[in-house]
Amino acid sequence: MAKAKVRTRKDKSKNKPTLYRVGRARTGLGLFAAADIPSGKLLIEYTGIRIPTRQAREIDKRRANKYLFEIDNRFTIDGSPRSNLARYVNHSCDPNTEAESNRGRLMFRTVRKIAKGEEITLDYGEEHMELYFGPGGCLCDVCATEKKKKKKR
Ligand SMILES: [Zn+2]
Repeated sequence: MAKAKVRTRKDKSKNKPTLYRVGRARTGLGLFAAADIPSGKLLIEYTGIRIPTRQAREIDKRRANKYLFEIDNRFTIDGSPRSNLARYVNHSCDPNTEAESNRGRLMFRTVRKIAKGEEITLDYGEEHMELYFGPGGCLCDVCATEKKKKKKR
């Protein structure tokens, strides 16, 4: 057993996110860039409790938890704890991050440059949209612009 002196840090500031912050978005809360972020950057981990995907599918049938994020057909992350800041990332049909899994962990990586103040978004996929979006459908920037165009016609 290793027995070096282990310092315990009480300073929590090093855990504070500096690249993003929770803020007010069009549809409630969202996650926003707190600095300019380059493309290809591993930005945030989607944390939570790992549950069997089989169980997650049952929960989805009742539309009971919109924070379920499937890693593969074995494991799904229940990201509903508020400590999971990635749960504030809203859907976009033209997102600026994509999800990737690495040994059972789920991370969001930027797919283009994100300017300070810009909302951080991810495409959560058709199934999520069908289950958890209201009758108005998707309200992301892309779709909102589309809807405005259609109204004008
Ligand atoms: Zn959309």
